[in-house]
Amino acid sequence: MSMTCTTCPYCGVGCGVLASADGTIKGDPDHPSNFGRLCSKGSALGETITLEGRLLAPMVNKQRASWEEATALVAEKFSAAIKEHGPDSVAFYVSGQLLTEDYYVANKLMKGFIGSANIDTNSRLCMASSVAGHKRAFGTDTVPGTYEDFEEADLVVLVGSNLAWCHPILFQRLVAAKQARPDMRVVNIDPRVTATSDLADLHLAINADSDTALFNHLLAEIASRGAVDDDYVAKNVNGFADALAAAQDSDVSSTGLSAAEIEDFTKLWINTERVVTIYSQGVNQSAVGTDKVNAILNCHLATGRIGRAGMGPFSVTGQPNAMGGREVGGLANMLANHLDLENPDHRDTVQTAWNAPVIADHAGLKAVDLFQACADGKIKALWVMSTNPAVSMPDAANVAQAIENVPFTVVSDILKDTDTGALADVLLPAAGWGEKSGTVTNSERRISRQRAFLPLPGETRPDWQIICDVAQKMGFGEAFEFTSPAEVFAEYAALSEATAKFGKDFDISGLAGLDEADYDALKPTQWPIRANGSTTERFFADGGFFHADSKAKMLPVKPPKHAENGETFRLNTGRIRDQWHTMTRTARAPRLNQHLAEPFAEINPTDALRLGIKDATLLRISGEHGSAVVRAMITSKVQAGTIFVPMHWTAQFAASGRVNHAVAPVTDPVSGQPALKGADVTVAPF
Ligand code: SF4
Repeated sequence: MSMTCTTCPYCGVGCGVLASADGTIKGDPDHPSNFGRLCSKGSALGETITLEGRLLAPMVNKQRASWEEATALVAEKFSAAIKEHGPDSVAFYVSGQLLTEDYYVANKLMKGFIGSANIDTNSRLCMASSVAGHKRAFGTDTVPGTYEDFEEADLVVLVGSNLAWCHPILFQRLVAAKQARPDMRVVNIDPRVTATSDLADLHLAINADSDTALFNHLLAEIASRGAVDDDYVAKNVNGFADALAAAQDSDVSSTGLSAAEIEDFTKLWINTERVVTIYSQGVNQSAVGTDKVNAILNCHLATGRIGRAGMGPFSVTGQPNAMGGREVGGLANMLANHLDLENPDHRDTVQTAWNAPVIADHAGLKAVDLFQACADGKIKALWVMSTNPAVSMPDAANVAQAIENVPFTVVSDILKDTDTGALADVLLPAAGWGEKSGTVTNSERRISRQRAFLPLPGETRPDWQIICDVAQKMGFGEAFEFTSPAEVFAEYAALSEATAKFGKDFDISGLAGLDEADYDALKPTQWPIRANGSTTERFFADGGFFHADSKAKMLPVKPPKHAENGETFRLNTGRIRDQWHTMTRTARAPRLNQHLAEPFAEINPTDALRLGIKDATLLRISGEHGSAVVRAMITSKVQAGTIFVPMHWTAQFAASGRVNHAVAPVTDPVSGQPALKGADVTVAPF
């Protein structure tokens, strides 16, 4: 049987997959991100392409409807809300699971034709603090390096990242590199001991959110031990003195680490030229996530260890297309192509290229604020695409109520029974992985094709087509007359041609003019892909930042003060090895359910003894707005006063285990990213 070359739909590693309609799945040996490897989730993809539970026809008020009826109703309700209450009375909440082409048309419709920037994405829960940190330091949302840097580094520092479970193929590449070069050192900075810690030469179990204190200390020591790259800083960096003053003013004791541990880390980092610092949700999902990102970037900028082989900060993304969404402007505070909503030249160029009647001129509502606006009655029509916020958002029960409060809600999804779909007036059946085609961008800026190898089941349609259908019925016909994802991509690349004059990092103008055959044959390619054929494998080795003066900014950042009251626990939520998001796909593969079959809470033996908790005791974990009930797993892998609970379980699989019900909707003030790893909760036997 012939196999189709496509891309895994799970994490931001973006592994190449060979797939066939009979469910055979193999790693693509020619894909430069995974070279044929697949993790447990990727390997089980063939078991998830069942039609069980699929939404196969449009539904209006829980009754089967035709596409014509359903999309006409969506167009009518959105148009009526805009007419009566203005463009900001409607909103889209989309997903890093969407393909770039889907994202592109959704963003075009909202920002260029409706005239609002109320389009936000579940990437807000994932990467927003990295985006904000990048923009503050570099002037753009740029990941400077490549996956090869992990292998070429002499020191890899993993911060707030359980790479072994959340980005398994990158972890495997790291394991292989360390085996080949045993002198390579790995440091794991995480309050919790995880599978990733097994690879570490040094595990630093810091207190939650004390990353800024640790990296500020490192910066102060870089300066006092003469390790600053004075030449690089003088030529390429602003803000060094202020950042250093803030660093010298912060207290490393808040990390809870011993003096010996701090010194080991400091010496290792300073004395190793080739350092890569990989960071993920433990950094981002915090009320101080953006400052933590900048504390890390400061150390790399001060030493000039950026953009050279085996050196640099590296944000690993959670979702398959978190990067693609950022590139087309799928966040409420961004335009397309890494341009700025606040910049009139940027707006004019995009509006002209789209031939759009309007262009959003102010930031829209970020995820938490968007659902608060729903609760407050400000959103009159909401469209949720390919995501399940009634489970995945913090304060999830109130988010569900907020969605219910919206007069008209549309959900497009592949499944008929999701917590969010249950709240919809209109359900639209979307094509799933293997059935639709498009592109995704992974964490190392590599654009890869997802290709269909299955027929569209029932009446399902790809998301880009659904959005275009509604846009046309809203009266925006010509601008949405795409007949294939290749046509959408061609317009996107042409837009890049128009915006290349701004000299931003993101540039795919070299792909403008791609025809259907070229698009179909497109190999995994890292951006930028400029019109003259040039690219930049690594950014910033010689400066060239994207602030007006081409210099980077070091930010003065201060560690937060977290008041411990001795009664509450610090709740850390996260993923397990074999499940993905709210389990809508992975739970369909029996072998993936065998690893950890039900929700649980890792709790330290000291706390268990104090509260009279035994292994497998049912625990109630309560936040201000809601609670979850899960079994205790007593382990010294978590620190006393903290618990870890996985975030995957939904009403369908274990209603009591929906831990985001207990998480308060606290956000980072710069990025708007929710603090999904920092909720204060109480814990008691159930
Ligand atoms: Fe898929 Fe990520 Fe596993 Fe690769 S590492 S196979 S992209 S889940």
